Amino acid sequence: MDKILNYIDGKLVEPISGNYLDNYNPSTGKVYSLIPDSDKLDVNIAIQAAKTAFVSWSKTPKQERSNILMKLADTIEKYSDDLIKAESKDNGKPESLAARVDIPRAPANIRFFAGAILHDSSQIHDMDGMALNYTLRKPLGVAACISPWNLPLYLLTWKIAPALASGNTVVAKPSEVTPMTAYLLSKICIEAGLPKGVLNIVHGLGAKTGDPLTMHKDTPIISFTGGTITGKHIATVTAPMFKKVSLELGGKNPNIIFADADFDKAVSTASRAAFTNQGQICLCGSRLFVEETIYERFKKALIAKTSKLTVGDPKDPSTNLGAVVSKDHMEKILTKIKLAENLGGKVLIGGKRKIIEGNLKHGYFIEPTVIEGLSFDCDINQEEIFGPVVTLIPFKTEEEVIEMANSTKYGLAASIFTENISKGHRVAASIDSGVVWINTWLLRDLRIPFGGMKQSGVGREGGFKSLDFFTEPKNVCIKI
Ligand code: NAD
Repeated sequence: MDKILNYIDGKLVEPISGNYLDNYNPSTGKVYSLIPDSDKLDVNIAIQAAKTAFVSWSKTPKQERSNILMKLADTIEKYSDDLIKAESKDNGKPESLAARVDIPRAPANIRFFAGAILHDSSQIHDMDGMALNYTLRKPLGVAACISPWNLPLYLLTWKIAPALASGNTVVAKPSEVTPMTAYLLSKICIEAGLPKGVLNIVHGLGAKTGDPLTMHKDTPIISFTGGTITGKHIATVTAPMFKKVSLELGGKNPNIIFADADFDKAVSTASRAAFTNQGQICLCGSRLFVEETIYERFKKALIAKTSKLTVGDPKDPSTNLGAVVSKDHMEKILTKIKLAENLGGKVLIGGKRKIIEGNLKHGYFIEPTVIEGLSFDCDINQEEIFGPVVTLIPFKTEEEVIEMANSTKYGLAASIFTENISKGHRVAASIDSGVVWINTWLLRDLRIPFGGMKQSGVGREGGFKSLDFFTEPKNVCIKI
């Protein structure tokens, strides 16, 4: 059985306790590898290694840091095929999705920030010739980067790339549910010649590994992506330590379909937004608001589209939906579907676990599910389900749909479908969310500010926002 190792000070090492956790393949329901059950001792050693490495890494010229990161990106690409297979096996997602999204975006993230640091510039404020202010931006030290299981390598690199490019060193804690590609990344870092201690990866549980990492006095900066409850915990424990914290949290994103939308485009994009990665993307559109005059036609088309989606072997190129990430998560999603029915919702299609005969018989597969008949303010339409479940809600007016869309505690993303340009802009401006798409979904530009409003997060990452976050501004004033 494969044993995953921690990556500390440039070496692959066992956890000090010698303890390991089981790592499951969600498609088979079987344990296929072991994860270090790391604790405070491992975290402390990793932070010390990162602290030591910071001395020279922070002084390494930008061009040299950029070259090293470009080489890392090239080496990731060299192992793309292995990473695609590993991500799919570890997470349950179709290999075709990992090949299209997860794995190519990892080197893309690294190249983007390795290039961005070469084009960064600092500000100067001239006081009418009397004095001049200029702003230096310096890395802070050891960055703690904590990432979730839904886009494992992609979101890990989204954090470590700007942190390292800006001159910080990193201790990363990937999700214990999907540790494999982070482990493969450690081997890739060694092959690519990343200086020792610059990136350290410690595997383990949130409470045993994540907590000591976020609470350590020598991690002044924390970038976290994950659930809102964990984010609240991290915000609470780190506030008295005055750490710099970026939180990218959950969402309950509305997709709004107006009657004047390009109908076929709206149906196919809404379906993609609901079910990509088994609905396990923070940006998934899980509440579908449809203008009353086209509601029945839209419903019929969405059901027809959903019925054509294949749930099956993640290795099969024709598979649209693979397995959800874990047994616990599958049970949570199925419980939410039951609750929806108890609240008066009608399951129009799906709603059940899917058993695939053969060696995937014990896999965690769920049919793509469409539900209607629930009020916009019930639990199902307010809380994140994070699975292949979408609800349909009719609306009459622009004002009404804006109110319903904004009714949750979240504010991460939204999509609006209309051919009326003015309406698109008007509604986009009224939706409380950090990201709004018009007539599309998941179209990402790495330069944009990315993040959520309300309980979907604090701060923005992406482009120069990430470089700002991972550096501390220092103003110098010169009297002339
Ligand atoms: P999670 O909060 O359970 O775990 C995320 C990470 O935090 C894991 O590595 C986990 O081990 C760690 N962690 C848990 N407890 C911790 C603690 N006490 N201290 C420090 N670290 C701790 O989230 P998840 O279930 O892995 O991911 C799914 C969630 O992530 C969903 O809510 C989803 O919306 C959200 N998400 C948000 C974004 C975004 O950009 N806003 C992107 C992807 C996922």
